[in-house]
Amino acid sequence: MKWGLIGASTIASEHVIGAIRAQGGEILSVLSSDPARGADYAARHGIGRATDDLSNLLGEAGLDAVYISTTNEKHHSQALAAIAAGKHVLCEKPLAMTLDEAAEMARAADAAGLVFATNHHLRNAGSHLAIRDLVAAGRIGRVLSARVFHAVHLPPHLQGWRINDAGAGGGVIPDITVHDADTIRFYLGEDPVEVVALAGASGMGAGVEDSVMSVWTMPSGAMVQSHESFTHPFAGSGVELHGTEGSIFGRGIMTQKPLGELDLVDAAGRHAVAFDRHDLYARSVALFVEAVAGRGRPAADGVDGVKSLAVALAVREAARTRRAVRVDYAGF
Ligand code: NDP
Repeated sequence: MKWGLIGASTIASEHVIGAIRAQGGEILSVLSSDPARGADYAARHGIGRATDDLSNLLGEAGLDAVYISTTNEKHHSQALAAIAAGKHVLCEKPLAMTLDEAAEMARAADAAGLVFATNHHLRNAGSHLAIRDLVAAGRIGRVLSARVFHAVHLPPHLQGWRINDAGAGGGVIPDITVHDADTIRFYLGEDPVEVVALAGASGMGAGVEDSVMSVWTMPSGAMVQSHESFTHPFAGSGVELHGTEGSIFGRGIMTQKPLGELDLVDAAGRHAVAFDRHDLYARSVALFVEAVAGRGRPAADGVDGVKSLAVALAVREAARTRRAVRVDYAGF
């Protein structure tokens, strides 16, 4: 499959270029708003061409798909342009700045008969797949509650627009809460109904929140507690799910790498749960490529991206107004 990269980003260089190539994909071109950085990026990653003109990239002969990993405010217009050019789209989260924009992206791809995927990497992890399977198999009975611990320390090389530029989509809610919303939806197969939240800015950045805690209700009656932060060097990440017949404890699993440990605790005791340690991004790209070939669906599609953004926006609104907010899924 022939790809174009929209965005000379860190995530592409650290994970997705390798994942595309691991699936036999060829990267024809990279788009950067800065010609010098684009040329340097292309040279460093063995990409044939760099351009600062999206129509040039979309006009590459034989181009099948694009991977969009620019800052968040650019995803909407770039995705719509790619869809209009008949290209399949793997787009980074959050899909867009607003729910309406995200819904427009998913609907446009659907109307054009193109594959549109959201790069929610966590649902591609062996650990999270194992949790989803344990829940589906009834190993913890009826799920009563879930806790997500996703307070990390933003590494210095990422302390740019994420912590100081609301206009580019900065803030821990669009950055991490979207992932946690997607992960909980993935485990439970249901969508949060209502949220309450408090958010704060510790001073790491400027103008956007760097920490948030929220509580969500689920249609089944389960309750979810979620904590995201950029400022916690030693907290470690994890998930707990508690049910009538057992509990699942995941530690160190809210990561980009196939790391961490899982335990199931039930009436018979504590059991370590083995899981597959494949590369998360390779699986995301592999399922996308299969979907383009007409086999199956991407790990997370456009509707998943709309819904994770919907939850995150509700959390932000709840934190702003200090009121409970019902999640609006834009008709999905
Ligand atoms: P980066 O800051 O690395 O890249 C975003 C944009 O910033 C690039 O498109 C580039 O613009 C510009 N840029 C990059 N490096 C520099 C530089 N040295 N100087 C000036 N500008 C620069 O962002 P990330 O890779 O961290 O995130 C990109 C997107 O991917 C976001 O939407 C984010 O939410 C998402 N993401 C998803 C992850 C996941 O696991 N699913 C993980 C990390 C990020 P240009 O292209 O114009 O050159």
